[in-house]
Amino acid sequence: MCIFCQIVKREIPADIIYENGELIAFNDIHPKAKTHILIVPKKHIETIKDLNENEADEVLVGKMVLTARDIAREKKLNGYQLLFNVGESAGQIIFHIHLHLMSNG
Ligand code: AMP
Ligand code: ZN
Repeated sequence: MCIFCQIVKREIPADIIYENGELIAFNDIHPKAKTHILIVPKKHIETIKDLNENEADEVLVGKMVLTARDIAREKKLNGYQLLFNVGESAGQIIFHIHLHLMSNG
């Protein structure tokens, strides 16, 4: 089972800051900005390339973005970056989709 599925199942620890039925968000273990949070669907999908052309996956990705926006708003972040690394050559190291939320203020 992948490392993010293990975090979802509480088999390994993470600094979880938000969770609902479909998504979990936790602090990145090697932060690349003052705030660096990962928004992760509970469903295991390896990469953005593997998303289906159906409403469920469209809604899921939309909720990831809106959850990042809500977390940023709650933390009163002025500006931030939202990033998906897609594929090994783009630097993806965990093959379970995740949205990076990064901000320095
Ligand atoms: P990516 O390069 O897009 O696959 O990003 C994976 C991210 O997951 C990196 O920023 C890692 O620092 C982060 N990461 C890896 N393992 C953990 C973990 N156990 N808990 C939190 N973040 C992690
Ligand atoms: Zn997984």
